[in-house]
Amino acid sequence: MAGDISTHFSRIEFRCKCGNCEFDTVDAGLVAMLEKIRTHFQRPVTINSACRCARHNAQVGGSARSQHLYGRAADIRVSNVEPSAVADFAETLNPGGLGRYSTFTHIDSRNGRARWKT
Ligand SMILES: [Zn+2]
Ligand SMILES: [Zn+2]
Repeated sequence: MAGDISTHFSRIEFRCKCGNCEFDTVDAGLVAMLEKIRTHFQRPVTINSACRCARHNAQVGGSARSQHLYGRAADIRVSNVEPSAVADFAETLNPGGLGRYSTFTHIDSRNGRARWKT
Protein backbone atom coordinates (compact mmCIF):
# COMPACT_ATOMS: atom_id res chain seq x y z
CA MET A 1 0.00 0.00 0.00
CA ALA A 2 1.43 3.34 -0.97
CA GLY A 3 1.94 5.91 1.75
CA ASP A 4 1.99 9.67 1.95
CA ILE A 5 5.18 10.02 4.00
CA SER A 6 7.21 7.13 2.61
CA THR A 7 6.87 4.26 0.17
CA HIS A 8 4.84 2.09 2.51
CA PHE A 9 3.69 4.33 5.35
CA SER A 10 1.08 7.03 5.79
CA ARG A 11 1.04 9.78 8.38
CA ILE A 12 -2.28 8.60 9.78
CA GLU A 13 -0.61 5.39 10.97
CA PHE A 14 1.61 7.40 13.30
CA ARG A 15 -1.09 9.62 14.76
CA CYS A 16 -1.73 9.64 18.50
CA LYS A 17 -4.65 7.38 19.31
CA CYS A 18 -6.16 9.57 22.02
CA GLY A 19 -8.71 10.78 19.47
CA ASN A 20 -8.21 14.46 20.24
CA CYS A 21 -4.73 15.83 19.71
CA GLU A 22 -3.95 14.59 16.17
CA PHE A 23 -0.23 14.57 17.01
CA ASP A 24 1.41 12.91 14.02
CA THR A 25 4.78 14.61 13.62
CA VAL A 26 7.00 11.60 13.20
CA ASP A 27 10.79 11.55 13.00
CA ALA A 28 12.19 10.93 9.51
CA GLY A 29 14.90 8.65 10.85
CA LEU A 30 12.28 6.42 12.46
CA VAL A 31 10.30 6.19 9.22
CA ALA A 32 13.50 5.29 7.34
CA MET A 33 14.13 2.38 9.71
CA LEU A 34 10.56 1.15 9.35
CA GLU A 35 10.93 1.22 5.56
CA LYS A 36 14.05 -0.94 5.84
CA ILE A 37 12.14 -3.41 8.02
CA ARG A 38 9.25 -3.46 5.56
CA THR A 39 11.62 -4.03 2.64
CA HIS A 40 13.63 -6.71 4.42
CA PHE A 41 10.68 -8.89 5.37
CA GLN A 42 8.48 -8.05 2.38
CA ARG A 43 5.52 -8.23 4.74
CA PRO A 44 3.04 -5.62 5.97
CA VAL A 45 4.17 -3.69 9.04
CA THR A 46 1.48 -2.73 11.55
CA ILE A 47 2.15 0.26 13.78
CA ASN A 48 0.42 -0.38 17.09
CA SER A 49 1.49 2.92 18.64
CA ALA A 50 3.77 5.72 17.49
CA CYS A 51 3.15 9.38 18.40
CA ARG A 52 1.60 9.93 21.83
CA CYS A 53 0.60 13.12 23.60
CA ALA A 54 1.40 13.25 27.30
CA ARG A 55 -2.14 12.38 28.28
CA HIS A 56 -2.36 9.34 26.03
CA ASN A 57 1.12 8.21 27.01
CA ALA A 58 0.04 8.24 30.64
CA GLN A 59 -3.15 6.38 29.78
CA VAL A 60 -1.23 3.52 28.17
CA GLY A 61 1.35 3.37 30.94
CA GLY A 62 4.26 4.80 28.95
CA SER A 63 7.29 6.05 30.80
CA ALA A 64 7.49 9.77 31.56
CA ARG A 65 10.39 10.17 29.13
CA SER A 66 9.04 7.86 26.44
CA GLN A 67 10.33 8.50 22.94
CA HIS A 68 6.72 8.13 21.79
CA LEU A 69 6.19 11.64 23.22
CA TYR A 70 8.63 13.03 20.64
CA GLY A 71 7.41 11.12 17.59
CA ARG A 72 10.61 9.09 17.62
CA ALA A 73 9.22 5.67 18.56
CA ALA A 74 6.98 3.00 17.08
CA ASP A 75 5.66 -0.26 18.48
CA ILE A 76 5.35 -2.56 15.51
CA ARG A 77 4.37 -5.99 14.33
CA VAL A 78 5.37 -7.58 11.04
CA SER A 79 2.74 -9.87 9.60
CA ASN A 80 3.60 -13.54 10.20
CA VAL A 81 7.04 -12.74 11.62
CA GLU A 82 7.97 -13.45 15.24
CA PRO A 83 8.73 -10.28 17.24
CA SER A 84 12.10 -11.75 18.16
CA ALA A 85 13.01 -11.98 14.47
CA VAL A 86 11.81 -8.43 13.90
CA ALA A 87 13.97 -7.23 16.78
CA ASP A 88 16.99 -9.19 15.54
CA PHE A 89 16.78 -7.49 12.16
CA ALA A 90 16.00 -4.10 13.69
CA GLU A 91 19.21 -4.40 15.70
CA THR A 92 21.22 -4.43 12.46
CA LEU A 93 19.86 -0.94 11.74
CA ASN A 94 21.55 0.34 14.91
CA PRO A 95 18.45 2.09 16.29
CA GLY A 96 18.73 4.41 19.27
CA GLY A 97 16.24 2.37 21.27
CA LEU A 98 15.09 -1.22 20.88
CA GLY A 99 12.61 -2.89 23.19
CA ARG A 100 11.80 -6.57 22.89
CA TYR A 101 8.30 -7.61 23.92
CA SER A 102 6.55 -10.93 23.45
CA THR A 103 3.94 -9.54 21.06
CA PHE A 104 5.61 -6.51 19.45
CA THR A 105 8.87 -4.65 18.95
CA HIS A 106 9.59 -1.09 20.07
CA ILE A 107 12.04 0.80 17.90
CA ASP A 108 13.08 4.42 18.26
CA SER A 109 15.46 6.98 16.82
CA ARG A 110 16.61 8.61 20.06
CA ASN A 111 20.05 10.12 20.37
CA GLY A 112 21.89 7.62 22.49
CA ARG A 113 21.28 3.97 23.04
CA ALA A 114 18.82 1.92 25.04
CA ARG A 115 18.05 -1.79 24.97
CA TRP A 116 15.47 -3.62 27.05
CA LYS A 117 13.49 -6.81 27.11
CA THR A 118 10.36 -7.79 28.97
ZN1 LIG B 1 -3.10 12.53 21.84
ZN1 LIG C 1 7.16 1.78 22.46
